[in-house]
Amino acid sequence: MKVAFGLLLLWLSQMIAPAQSPLDRLERIELFGHTYVRLGDWAKTYHFEIAWPPQSKDVYLTNRSNHLVLTIDSRKAELNRVTVWLSVPIAQHNGVLYLSPLDLKSMIHPVFYPPKTAAGAKIKTICLDPGHGGKDPGNNGGRTQEKSCTLLLAKEVRSLLNKAGFKVLLTRNTDSFVEKLDRPDIANRNHADLFVSLHYNSAEAGGNGARGVETYCLTPPSARSTNTRGEVGDTRIAPGNIQDTRNALLAYRIQRTLINKLPLEDRGVKRARFAVLRTATMPAVLIECGFMSDPAEAKRIFDPAFRTRTAQAIVEGLLAYKRMVEQ
Ligand SMILES: [Zn+2]
Repeated sequence: MKVAFGLLLLWLSQMIAPAQSPLDRLERIELFGHTYVRLGDWAKTYHFEIAWPPQSKDVYLTNRSNHLVLTIDSRKAELNRVTVWLSVPIAQHNGVLYLSPLDLKSMIHPVFYPPKTAAGAKIKTICLDPGHGGKDPGNNGGRTQEKSCTLLLAKEVRSLLNKAGFKVLLTRNTDSFVEKLDRPDIANRNHADLFVSLHYNSAEAGGNGARGVETYCLTPPSARSTNTRGEVGDTRIAPGNIQDTRNALLAYRIQRTLINKLPLEDRGVKRARFAVLRTATMPAVLIECGFMSDPAEAKRIFDPAFRTRTAQAIVEGLLAYKRMVEQ
């Protein structure tokens, strides 16, 4: 009877306090209005060597498989030579460095320690979302409109994915207008395993002289988006937040192949609460494949051979993600 009661207590305690990960056990410190852990504590737990050159703002962390570069007072980080944007800047206080556990959980760990899908679950169906369409032309480069470039790219990606054995859905096949919220809905209704929205950028959104590629995933609750103001402390949970760790890994893998395979500047993995990302219940990303406002980049965007290379890089990123998460 006593044993049974003891087991019941043990079971209850496990129900109430689920097993903590080593990251959960690191001491939390409140500093400059943010919650941090000591960089040294994290590095020791996960076996990273820290190199912090004198007078340098950059800190280098290395272990057998991964390399991380952090910059003091900055949200910009480099994970295995790919730029990602953190939610909270790296802090320094009395010679000690701090980083946010939220960034560790939602960006750095998903990339370094990829989350696995349920045993046997396979990625078979991919929903591609060519941005804009119909009455919404999107950005433009001269007389060419974003909506036609995204559709051409989506069709190219579709044909490569079909060849690789995937089932592919498009949120639009023609120059038609589709409401933003209908796009992830199409993916949800058809049980797509991944959602990829395709766009081209313009300097109005990115600053003068801007060029390069950036990949967005949904901002985790309470975290700060990369691209917007006024949503600091937004704690609402969107349906897409169920995939936070996979969203980050998918965005990272696609950004990585795009910058490695194409002569495009790395603007990094970013976070936004875009309508198309909020309600997709499968891992979802939005890729800005280059700037139509930059003359040299626009020339490449309109070049069919470059479009094929872009599509190939996106497919390679998707395949890399699939290899990492499937058991
Ligand atoms: Zn767009």
